[in-house]
Amino acid sequence: MIPDKTVERLSLYRWLLEGRVDDSTVNLFSHQLAALACVTPAQVRRDLMAIGYTGSPNRGYMVKDLAASIGHVIDGDEPAKVALVGMGNLGRAIVAFLRGRRSALRVVATFDIDPAKTGRMISGSRCHEQKHIEKVIRELGVTVAILTVPTEAAQNIADRLVSAGIRGILNYAPVPLRVPDWVYLENRDVTAALEKVAYFARNSVEGTS
Ligand code: ATP
Repeated sequence: MIPDKTVERLSLYRWLLEGRVDDSTVNLFSHQLAALACVTPAQVRRDLMAIGYTGSPNRGYMVKDLAASIGHVIDGDEPAKVALVGMGNLGRAIVAFLRGRRSALRVVATFDIDPAKTGRMISGSRCHEQKHIEKVIRELGVTVAILTVPTEAAQNIADRLVSAGIRGILNYAPVPLRVPDWVYLENRDVTAALEKVAYFARNSVEGTS
């Protein structure tokens, strides 16, 4: 398995290769990709070696070929089916944001407890009643979930998602979740992250590093 920080950088490299490199650029050297990604050329070479990709000393990396190779490793063979639980302000924004952005990530179901939201299409996705989580997840073969429910509901929903077969959770609820070690958990506490940025902003002194 590739380390998670490496996966993050590979994802960034692909994004840069697909969108930030001039269309006429056929090949790129590690120092050029490193400059775009704000990492060292050695880091780029190590990361690409982790997926078995080596460039040529004379021509560097082939842009399209490298983007495809990264995609092959990160995306696998089939699009990941994603569910989101908690169609509040954040949940709706995430679903709308993801729509059509990456074909390898497809939000196939959303859930909520609020009858005003369930049983209809929201942000282009059908919102199911949360009591049907297990059934829908199993039927659709969903493996990845995004949690945008309030703190007090998060652990219970996570337990149910795991028992339905979910293998990865992106958690926005500001609470540490307990999940089995075969479930990959990524926490994104937006308030804590912003608090951290505000702390460093308050304590920064221009011209020092
Ligand atoms: P809104 O005002 O639209 O409800 P919000 O972002 O202020 O949005 P939150 O209280 O953060 O709402 O809750 C996020 C969403 O999670 C809401 O849509 C809420 O109905 C839903 N929710 C709360 N508890 C559960 C639960 N147990 N299962 C599924 N969804 C839930």
